[in-house]
Amino acid sequence: MEDAGGVYDVAVIGAGITGLTSAYYIKKNDQSLRVIVIDRARSFAQGNTGRATAGFRDLFSSGINFNLSNSSISFYRSIQDGSNYDMGMKFVGYMFLLNEDDSRLDVLDEVRRKTKVRVLGRDELEGIRGLSLEMPGEESSLLGIKPAVSAYIGENCGIFEPDLVAGFYFDELRKMGVEFLFNTDVKKLILTPREPLDYPGEPFLWQDKKIGGLDISRGEIRADFYVIATDVWTDFLLGPVGIDSHMRPRKRQVFQIGGPHVEAMLTEFSINNTGIFPFTVLPYYGVHFRPAPKEKQMRVSAPDYIGRNFSLEEYPEAEKSYYEYSIKPVLQSYFPSLGDARIKGMWAGYYSYNTLDAHPFIFRDMNIIVATGTSGSGLMKGDAIGRIVASTYSGKERTELFNGHEIENSNLGVVKREVPRERFVL
Ligand SMILES: Cc1cc2nc3c(=O)[nH]c(=O)nc-3n(C[C@H](O)[C@H](O)[C@H](O)COP(=O)(O)OP(=O)(O)OC[C@H]3O[C@@H](n4cnc5c(N)ncnc54)[C@H](O)[C@@H]3O)c2cc1C
Repeated sequence: MEDAGGVYDVAVIGAGITGLTSAYYIKKNDQSLRVIVIDRARSFAQGNTGRATAGFRDLFSSGINFNLSNSSISFYRSIQDGSNYDMGMKFVGYMFLLNEDDSRLDVLDEVRRKTKVRVLGRDELEGIRGLSLEMPGEESSLLGIKPAVSAYIGENCGIFEPDLVAGFYFDELRKMGVEFLFNTDVKKLILTPREPLDYPGEPFLWQDKKIGGLDISRGEIRADFYVIATDVWTDFLLGPVGIDSHMRPRKRQVFQIGGPHVEAMLTEFSINNTGIFPFTVLPYYGVHFRPAPKEKQMRVSAPDYIGRNFSLEEYPEAEKSYYEYSIKPVLQSYFPSLGDARIKGMWAGYYSYNTLDAHPFIFRDMNIIVATGTSGSGLMKGDAIGRIVASTYSGKERTELFNGHEIENSNLGVVKREVPRERFVL
């Protein structure tokens, strides 16, 4: 087989946010390493990173998720403010609208102790353009919903641009001399014995094993160490060598809507200092929308579970009927004027969903580190995940995050995993 690129210290598979931040901190920690990033796409951030709704929040029920996100937000902010590198960050806030006996209240009250949260009562909700606080009885009983009575607004939250966030790491990696191999599909991890005997059928049960190379579309690449940052596609590589990724693909869809009411709502919000409507989560079914001020539109989405199978399509498409019949009735019950908004664009992607606790998985096996299971919030946690991958690569047990908090690496691994179940997955 042709040798496509010589021998590297580290080969990172996947040029989404996870692969880029992992490569960045590995190289930054030791500039002498020869690092390569491989992706089958034509450029970086073409997988789920480029399909994100693109909001960030540090409102999580779990302390670990809070720190992964809070630290990454602080780092992104420091780059945007300190280095003049625009990540498109706007602190428009995340507004959780709540019903009178909202089941999320206890968690939100706890989250308030960790970060900046503003509480709005009914009087203040009355001042929000487009929001209806009344609901016809039949609508309420058919959809199983109740009007909003209050809201919690996370202030260290907002929107950013995935290509700009990822672009920062890509540019820095290029400057540090990291190589990129795009349009290159990794077909297989080649399992080999650490000390080959050159017998057919190796490696045998009793031989120490490692990944000896990558079978790629145009030959083979060899490295001492591999980082698998392939998100929902991780099973295709790990499955054949008998390693479980512990995540399942969940299809998620985004509908970008526009029209005069959307435009008016977007820019006439007086409760935060940006004047832009916040990222808003309705009290039921996780229906949410993210302002897209540049396009004067809104991105609407909602997570579904029962009835949505785990299949993984190569080119997933958004289903207009899902917007019309599942999302829109709920959306227009709270914001009646959005009922006549038009779909201007739509797309779909996948969450690599950790179905057990909705935290990322970062674990080492042989000479590979796997980073997946970002469960719908990998962009906002991307910087912290990269730091943990790099620290695991260096053989450390703990990682100091940008916000000063320390994470025990094994807590996000498999064998000694210790994380609570996350309650705020959108
Ligand atoms: C609709 C939607 C909305 C979302 N909204 C948000 C949000 O608002 N905020 C947020 O923080 N997160 C959000 N997410 C989640 C976020 O997008 C992901 O958590 C994050 O992008 C995962 O990054 P990644 O690098 O792990 O994966 P990806 O970006 O998917 O990167 C994986 C890369 O691996 C490559 N690859 C895979 N297999 C191979 C192979 N065999 N050979 C070569 N290359 C390979 C792919 O081409 C891809 O580029 C959203 C996701 C979706 C789908």
